[in-house]
Amino acid sequence: MKSSTVTPVNGATVRLKPEQFGELVFHREVMRHYLSETALEAVSRWEHGEPISPELADEIANALRQWASEKGATHYTHWFHPLTGLTAEKHENFFEVHRGKVLSGFNGSELLQQEPDASSFPSGGLRSTFEARGYTAWDPTSPPFIYGKTLCIPSAYVSYDGHALDYKTPLLRSIEALNQTAKKVVSLFYKGVERVFPTLGVEQEFFLIEREAFQRRLDLRLTGRTLIGAPSPRGQQMEDHYFGSIPERILAFFEELEAEAWRLGIPLKTRHNEVAPSQYECAPIFEELNVAIDHNQLLMDLLRRTARRHGLECLLHEKPFAGINGSGKHNNWSLSTDTGINLLSVGKNPRENLRFFSILSIVLMAVYKHADLLRATIATPGNEHRLGGNEAPPAILSVFLGKAVTQAVEALEKVPELPRLTDKTPLSLLVPRLPSLLRDNTDRNRTAPFAFTGSKFEFRAVGASAHCAPAMIALNAAVAEAMDRFAEEVQLRRSQSPSREMAILSVIRDFLIESRPIRFDGNNYDPAWREEAEQRGLSVSFHVPQVLKVYLSPATQKLFGERQILSETELHARYEVRIERYVKAYGIELHTLLDLLRSAVLPAAFEYQKELTALLTTEPMQALATSIAPEKLPQQALFEKLQFHIEGIWKGIQRAESLWQYILSLSTPEEQANHVYEEVRPLMEEMRRHADAIEGLLPSEKYPLPRYADILFSVR
Ligand code: ADP
Ligand code: MG
Repeated sequence: MKSSTVTPVNGATVRLKPEQFGELVFHREVMRHYLSETALEAVSRWEHGEPISPELADEIANALRQWASEKGATHYTHWFHPLTGLTAEKHENFFEVHRGKVLSGFNGSELLQQEPDASSFPSGGLRSTFEARGYTAWDPTSPPFIYGKTLCIPSAYVSYDGHALDYKTPLLRSIEALNQTAKKVVSLFYKGVERVFPTLGVEQEFFLIEREAFQRRLDLRLTGRTLIGAPSPRGQQMEDHYFGSIPERILAFFEELEAEAWRLGIPLKTRHNEVAPSQYECAPIFEELNVAIDHNQLLMDLLRRTARRHGLECLLHEKPFAGINGSGKHNNWSLSTDTGINLLSVGKNPRENLRFFSILSIVLMAVYKHADLLRATIATPGNEHRLGGNEAPPAILSVFLGKAVTQAVEALEKVPELPRLTDKTPLSLLVPRLPSLLRDNTDRNRTAPFAFTGSKFEFRAVGASAHCAPAMIALNAAVAEAMDRFAEEVQLRRSQSPSREMAILSVIRDFLIESRPIRFDGNNYDPAWREEAEQRGLSVSFHVPQVLKVYLSPATQKLFGERQILSETELHARYEVRIERYVKAYGIELHTLLDLLRSAVLPAAFEYQKELTALLTTEPMQALATSIAPEKLPQQALFEKLQFHIEGIWKGIQRAESLWQYILSLSTPEEQANHVYEEVRPLMEEMRRHADAIEGLLPSEKYPLPRYADILFSVR
């Protein structure tokens, strides 16, 4: 969404009022008030893919328009998720003029479908190969809402011949695939479950800095991160920011954010200071995955807009400042049944624990089998700067279970051979017990990329600015695949086992043993872990363009293809988009850096050199120079140090220009990406080192940009 306006979104109410929760959402309760029984049923059937008759669609559209107009909305839009990672909208007002008469311009067909100009969104070649037209279609599983003065209708976005051009389409497909296979496993334990669905709670980290400082940093404005900047004498060494008292201005920001979020039905619950100075986090109560993702996209927009109204800028980049913590987006994921059971909750009895260990072993198998894919989903240029640095999990995927669960899992692996068991063997002897308050017992290990945190798994390696969908689509699909295999195996072993429980136990055991290499409870930062991971056969690659290739692997194609989540063509398109965006992101960063060096850093260094030269030609200095060797004069030494770094930058600029020309001349985006990874990145680092050294040599008033200390320690 564009966010230039500074007027309050939805007329800010400043303080959260619980009774206002969801007042801008056309949720089920509101629908009941505005729609006939028949129309309500049509909405439910549409959720399952059944078409709605034109008359009923008109009725629903009319109701929506009436409700939205009563709330002050003047426009409507299909609100969708193209592959930019942002959301897109094209506002239309509610009216049409026909022979001078004003009529309603929002009817059933406009509710169900819109046709935005598809030519300006990334498609990975899908549009040129097929059709230029793109369609958005109403997603009835996520309720319409009013944002500002616009009625937003959450929508999927597909090409003329049905290829997914967005994140929502494959996400919905993955949720359905998971539902289908999870039901098979769940039926081993419970009767009457009609739907199994993933849940998601997103912890969102971000920085809040003075907008004035932000405006004066070209790199922050254009790339979201600082491309140069010497460390501040004080960074996060004192570790006094985390959970510290929230500054007044930030509190005012949070109050407004929460009030707005609640009206939009986003159940924000938690807020606190994060580890780095000026870093914060907020988290909602978890919801159904599809809605949680829509809400996270909306929240990111709300964060930026609210910050601006408070004279602040919200930085969602994964690593805005070198040398201090970056920002992530912990994706807390679990599975729930329509009967209200959290499938990852620890049970009160052995039977329920058997269910718990089944699902646990399934998730472990899923992550083990598709670790490379999960890793690829989070391999974005921004996140690469974060992973492995300052408390962020490293880029090697592994699962942390904590002491209690690990012990139980190890015990399960040793379950005696099946022939020795009889159907008289009580289950309680075989299924390890777990403390019911596991949540408080799961030890915290901030270095783990994928952790069990009591009743849910937490995928922590996702970047703060990322769209959650790529990671969640891959996780849903991988779990669906493992569910299928689990159910099949139980079926196969049923006849040879003394009981169904025994068959289940033996499959759990095999899943645990096979997926063992993915489990790691140690320190993921320890250099020894990298070696060990390699020995375990886990992939240890930091080369983003190569990591992304897994999108094209047979295993990924099979995973998504068999479940009709993404076809080979769609996958290929996604890969292309990722690679292209990688190259483009670095192209923008490189040129922003060159601009900063040429227009800010070098002139400042020259200016100081000029002053030093003037000083060196004064009489007292000349006199000194006759008694001390000139190179021993600090003023002279300073001049030369500046000269050294100026030359370093100068060489870098020239190399960068020819390198970029060369990269542009390469014929495939893949080759371009490889050169970006292997050459552009180190070159940028090298130029940065010189620039930061110059910053350290200049008098502070001569440095033309706000410095780290100015940015990170100013909002109080
Ligand atoms: P932590 O301190 O472990 O990170 P929080 O209480 O802050 O835990 O919760 C993190 C997020 O996990 C919240 O958004 C919360 O709603 C979510 N969460 C809790 N249970 C589940 C669940 N069953 N499925 C998905 N998310 C969950
Ligand atoms: Mg957290």
